[in-house]
Amino acid sequence: MKRRKFLKNSTTGTAALVATPLMVSCKNEKTTASLSESDQVPIKPIAVCTWNFQNATAKAWDVLKIGGSALDAVEQGVMVEEADVTNETVGKGGRPDRDGHVTLDACIMDKDGNCGAVVYLKNITHPVSVARKVMEETPHIILAGKGAEKFAYEQGFKKEDLLTESTRKQYEEWKKTSKYETTINIENHDTIGMLAIDKNGDIAGACTTSGMAYKVAGRVGDSPIIGAGLYVDNEVGGATATGVGEEVIRTVGSFLIVELMRQGKSPQEACEEGVRRIMKKNEGREDFQIGFLAINKQGETGGYCVHPGFSYQKYDPSGHGNVVSNSFY
Ligand code: ASP
Repeated sequence: MKRRKFLKNSTTGTAALVATPLMVSCKNEKTTASLSESDQVPIKPIAVCTWNFQNATAKAWDVLKIGGSALDAVEQGVMVEEADVTNETVGKGGRPDRDGHVTLDACIMDKDGNCGAVVYLKNITHPVSVARKVMEETPHIILAGKGAEKFAYEQGFKKEDLLTESTRKQYEEWKKTSKYETTINIENHDTIGMLAIDKNGDIAGACTTSGMAYKVAGRVGDSPIIGAGLYVDNEVGGATATGVGEEVIRTVGSFLIVELMRQGKSPQEACEEGVRRIMKKNEGREDFQIGFLAINKQGETGGYCVHPGFSYQKYDPSGHGNVVSNSFY
């Protein structure tokens, strides 16, 4: 449960990058040259991710602080969690489905609206990198199952057993009752969604997960679905989600939040409205968790969730820390 020990507003790292004098337009229809001083805000590189995956934001910051792209930052940031076998909800070491197979979902999206995704991918530790290859090397956006796995091998990815001793034991235990429960805020809601802005003011995002533990074989959640688990619009901002994916898909959550920001809402207001929309479709229901995280073009952030317990990690020139989100309940 170490990821549940939130580091409320902690400063665990020293920002190596100071805000640069580069400027970005708040009004996207104008060119920089035509902007007056008051229309501009300084570009603030930043990386944020769901929950308190501080090693992931630290890695993303390593990329940003030397001038790397937001796309590289989000990919390399979430890869830290995919490789961490103690994280039992992402990548290698993720909990399996009801049949005992670990199946991974991931997507990535860049500043130009290019995107790639893999769903129901087995035997590959870094689905986010396969998703990036789908985006960059194919004319497609989503590859699924066996086709995605074959493509990954063709691209040089290694076959690996993703089930660990710990997740194998837990699965054997689970099989004794085979109960499927979406327990609030237990470890099975720790998808990592990450958003970053680089020195050019460009935004990218990535999202990766092993999905709901003990899901029906073949189930795909929101995390690899562009618009649901992740959405980036370089004119406006980005959003990502964690929690019960079925509810996020039903509202096309991340796209909704970006569109709300386009209409003038702050990232915080947009995340709150996103959760309210979900709760409207689930009146009186209290047995599930959703957490939304958003960032706008100016580097402002927001997070909101159904139940207390969700937080997000943030690394920007002012420091590195964890922000606990307010909740609907
Ligand atoms: N959103 C993920 C899914 O539904 C799970 C999670 O975040 O816990 O697959």
